[in-house]
Amino acid sequence: MFSVPALQYDYDALEGVISAKIMELHHDKHHQAYVDKLNAALEKYPELQSKSVEELLRGLDTIPEDIRTAVRNNGGGHYNHCLFWLWLSPDGGGQPEGALYDAIVGRYGSFEAFIEEFNAKALGLFGSGWVWLQPNMDIVSTPNQDSLLSKGDDEPILGLDVWEHAYYLDYTNHRDEYIKAWWKVVNWNTAEARYKNSLS
Ligand code: MN
Repeated sequence: MFSVPALQYDYDALEGVISAKIMELHHDKHHQAYVDKLNAALEKYPELQSKSVEELLRGLDTIPEDIRTAVRNNGGGHYNHCLFWLWLSPDGGGQPEGALYDAIVGRYGSFEAFIEEFNAKALGLFGSGWVWLQPNMDIVSTPNQDSLLSKGDDEPILGLDVWEHAYYLDYTNHRDEYIKAWWKVVNWNTAEARYKNSLS
């Protein structure tokens, strides 16, 4: 059975960028719902219950057809949100260091240019979805809760939830303001560690 991991900070730790109300709903209700629906979908298939969510998503084609969409949406939702909480921190913001900084600047010319590109991708995403920084420094988006793993891609270095449930209570329709503010709480330590792992 899958479960929602506890946040490593309080609901109100990101106030000013993301309110306690959003964090609580997003973590306790939205993420919980993905987990509950994923567990329910797997009930009929005990042999799948011992697999990790990463294995399920990478092998989406081998998942029985009657639950494939449920695993795609809710397994993806679980995986994406587990990562999202780790990419946030009350001590976040600023810039990455070391190899990740070098890779970003090597690709985009400057850290600011990278932010601009990422923000444009997030702003331009139609409907609900995610924007990702991949280990090869590509910035890509996925619709709904689709996971990069299901496309055969590597684990993302960084990702932004641009579903309305992630910002609407605080920013209403101003997605651009949410995207801009989000950088103030990005946990670069997490992204740096993931980039280092991707190289080894
Ligand atoms: Mn979300």
